[in-house]
Amino acid sequence: MKLENQQQEHTGSYYAASVNEHTSYPQLSDSHEVDVCVVGAGFTGVATALTLAERGFSVALLEANRVGWGASGRNGGQLINGISGSAKVNKANGGNYDDLLWDLGWRGNTIIRERIEKYGIQCDFKEGFVEVAVKPKQVPWLEEYAEEREARNFPHRWEIWSREETQDKLGTDAYHGAFACFRDGHLHPLNLCIGEAKAAAGLGVKIFEQSPVTHIDHGDHPVVHTAKGQIKASAVVLAGNAYGQLEPKHLSNLVFPAGSYIIATEPLSDDVVAEINREDVAVCDVNNVVDYYRLSGDRRLLYGGACNYSGRDPSDIEAYIRPRMERVYPQMKDVRIEYQWGGKIGIVLNRVPAVGRVNGNVYYCQGYSGHGVNATHVMGEVMADAIGGTLETFDLFANVGHFRIPGTRWLGNQIIALGMLYYKMKDKI
Ligand SMILES: Cc1cc2nc3c(=O)[nH]c(=O)nc-3n(C[C@H](O)[C@H](O)[C@H](O)COP(=O)(O)OP(=O)(O)OC[C@H]3O[C@@H](n4cnc5c(N)ncnc54)[C@H](O)[C@@H]3O)c2cc1C
Repeated sequence: MKLENQQQEHTGSYYAASVNEHTSYPQLSDSHEVDVCVVGAGFTGVATALTLAERGFSVALLEANRVGWGASGRNGGQLINGISGSAKVNKANGGNYDDLLWDLGWRGNTIIRERIEKYGIQCDFKEGFVEVAVKPKQVPWLEEYAEEREARNFPHRWEIWSREETQDKLGTDAYHGAFACFRDGHLHPLNLCIGEAKAAAGLGVKIFEQSPVTHIDHGDHPVVHTAKGQIKASAVVLAGNAYGQLEPKHLSNLVFPAGSYIIATEPLSDDVVAEINREDVAVCDVNNVVDYYRLSGDRRLLYGGACNYSGRDPSDIEAYIRPRMERVYPQMKDVRIEYQWGGKIGIVLNRVPAVGRVNGNVYYCQGYSGHGVNATHVMGEVMADAIGGTLETFDLFANVGHFRIPGTRWLGNQIIALGMLYYKMKDKI
């Protein structure tokens, strides 16, 4: 089987240029036997492997390229509570799981904080995530967030910002108001992923890079194959997300890859930082097709957005994203862009992560619809619970029906692109 993402080094992102350490785990060769084999070393795979290892399972983690090579090492770094599609998960399970899903939506946030602390991971973590209204009609949505926090006696800091406060704190008149939550935050995602993988390796997880899985022989003890080796396990977890192509009979056209793109400016002066983001928060608008930005640890503006379903990255990402940044920050027009990159988000039609089993002992977990730093960590725990025999939370997600668009992935992408065009037009109204 030929995999399009076979054995590549990291993309030319700011993150790849600022890693704490370059990983060089061996390629898989020969035969190995473990309790659980995890395929894909993004946040989902690494979190699953680490949680299992913390619970005493023997684990192998196979990555086609490098740890964090996919979306996990390229994303906006915004740590945002919630799991997309939670309301649908609740509805599909009879409607009594609202509180459980609310708590679950914060669990990844807690896991990440604990792991940063426990394993000493340097990933520039900062508290503060701000959702901004780009239109007056979006302000009541932010007020609803506040009402929910109040109703739930949310114990952490949050604030509603008026138009004037938003302008003062973010140095732009592009927004009509904001909701700030300081339990959320932002971080260097590739350094987090590499740090968590290192913690897993420290607990005995056998990590193999440059080892694309070609196929799985199913059975009581499935065998996972790469070109040069194989792993026999009692259970397998597929965590390839938008880059995954295994088990097409069960998984094709369930998750669609959508490109999202980021530019990183040169480091900004103290004056500019004080003007545009003195509280050093992550910012995301509440459109259907979002723009998002934050400052890096060395105070570059990382500005991202724009979804593309064509399967082809724009030839000039700066030309694609820069006008969006300058609409918000016209004062940035002379700032130099030093990095530009993109990655693939896994979109699911109903926005509920696609969680389930190919058969009794081959599990999958993918498709966070652009909202995965927190959710992947929740799901790592949910997958580890399921493998350990506690299936309640896993089943909440697995019970949700998913529509698979018939035909090729190309056709599916065109259908999704049409849907997104509708939402983009709605954002403009
Ligand atoms: C540009 C961008 C910005 C984003 N911004 C944010 C944000 O700010 N906040 C947020 O919450 N979410 C964001 N997201 C989404 C978030 O990054 C993802 O939801 C999350 O990283 C998914 O993690 P994952 O481990 O499931 O998948 P990935 O990180 O994509 O990892 C999958 C891995 O599986 C490997 N793989 C695939 N097939 C095989 C195989 N056959 N054998 C071995 N390995 C295989 C791949 O090489 C890859 O490394 C963003 C995504 C992108 C692309």
